[in-house]
Amino acid sequence: MEIREGNVFDVIVAGAGCAGFCAAVQAGRSGLNVALFEHFAMPGGSLTVLGSNSIDQFNNPHRPVGDRIIISGIAMEYVLELERRGFAAIPDMDAPYRVHWQYGVKVNPIAAAQCMDDFLLQANVKLFYRQGIVAVDTTKTQNGTRVDSVIVTTKNGLVRHKAKIFIDCTGDGDLSVWAGAKYMISQELQPGTMRLYPAGNSDAALFEKSDKAWSEATVKDPGLREILCSGRFESLLSSKGDNTNHICGLNTADSESRSDTEIKTRKQIVEMLSVIKSSGAPMDIIGSAPESAPRESRRIEGDIVMTGDDYLNKRIYDDAVCYTYWFIDIHRDNKPSRIVYLNDEKTPSISLGAMRPKGLLNVYTAGRCVSADRESQSAIRVKASCMAMGQAVGAAAAVALRNHTVNTRLVNTDEVKDYLRSQGAIVPER
Ligand SMILES: Cc1cc2nc3c(=O)[nH]c(=O)nc-3n(C[C@H](O)[C@H](O)[C@H](O)COP(=O)(O)OP(=O)(O)OC[C@H]3O[C@@H](n4cnc5c(N)ncnc54)[C@H](O)[C@@H]3O)c2cc1C
Repeated sequence: MEIREGNVFDVIVAGAGCAGFCAAVQAGRSGLNVALFEHFAMPGGSLTVLGSNSIDQFNNPHRPVGDRIIISGIAMEYVLELERRGFAAIPDMDAPYRVHWQYGVKVNPIAAAQCMDDFLLQANVKLFYRQGIVAVDTTKTQNGTRVDSVIVTTKNGLVRHKAKIFIDCTGDGDLSVWAGAKYMISQELQPGTMRLYPAGNSDAALFEKSDKAWSEATVKDPGLREILCSGRFESLLSSKGDNTNHICGLNTADSESRSDTEIKTRKQIVEMLSVIKSSGAPMDIIGSAPESAPRESRRIEGDIVMTGDDYLNKRIYDDAVCYTYWFIDIHRDNKPSRIVYLNDEKTPSISLGAMRPKGLLNVYTAGRCVSADRESQSAIRVKASCMAMGQAVGAAAAVALRNHTVNTRLVNTDEVKDYLRSQGAIVPER
């Protein structure tokens, strides 16, 4: 099949989730000619399209009041702008700690996506929505494999675009894997979650009736329990369909398995809905995300592999470019999650080396596919951390090209750190 020649860019960012958004904005603000390719027609990934609309966590609540913010830069600028527009609720980051989700910034998904468009366009990023990357062209060099171009699908056939540096923010690490990078993937992946949108009022009597119908149905048919991780129908309604089901067996790095899993998921959700409807409870589910949101898939092996021990010891890597804050949070099929909270003022960090795929010359990764063991990934995957990683590699690409190199290993980390500070980001001090 004929592949049309497209454009030549300084930087191509693959995937417009939280990580790709910040990577592209930072690279664009640095004066580079940047293209952002996204499989969906909307930026935001899990935050918007897949309906997981809480951005966590900008603070370490165990630090002294007034000094708790650990992630700033583009991520913070973005949520402040969304709040100014009336579409984000930023909680008091200095409030005493009660529960982990109290510091999440809740956003309106459509406004969040539209605000991303604004930031990207203001940074002169060329947007290619609904143009997923399907292949890469590479050249083997003495210093590693260089990615030369990506091939994308469009309604007018395949198009090849070239760039000097590539930033893989696809969540699954597609670009890196197709270029030959090694990756890690768990035998038992964490379950995903399908965002549902129930209709109707949050009414206590309705909760009770639906819950009763659900309990009775699951006694008769225990197989029904698999889908609702909270076990209670009431929580699906009270959370407005957010984060209450577990999609077991979801492997977004395997298209065939994914297809089967999504078919099974829809069947289970409709079975659940039928049970409730047949009870006479006047409720309905009027929408869902287009697909299940993944918590975990491939982790691209980098020069450094961040570990759960490093995370819990709050290691500040020599090449740390941002902080990260959450807890070890491994969701499991039909079992309670494995959770280990952080509980002092020390804050873990993210290494730039973990965002350089081993063996690839001119590629960075950012977001949930970076080089980390399973424990560490379960914590660093939260959105504010993904955004900070994105900004860091956008800055690193700018530093590389400013120094006339595409070799990410020749980039001076101190120069990246200084540049990030000048761009409003918080960079860990040793
Ligand atoms: C159910 C659930 C609940 C969660 N809850 C929270 C929470 O409360 N708070 C929090 O902070 N975090 C939460 N997380 C984690 C967080 O949402 C994700 O880890 C984070 O959003 C990942 O961001 P990302 O940019 O790395 O990837 P993604 O958001 O997955 O973005 C990747 C983007 O790349 C695109 N893409 C993929 N392949 C290609 C390709 N080949 N070509 C072009 N584009 C491509 C995708 O369409 C997508 O837009 C939750 C996750 C899940 C699944």
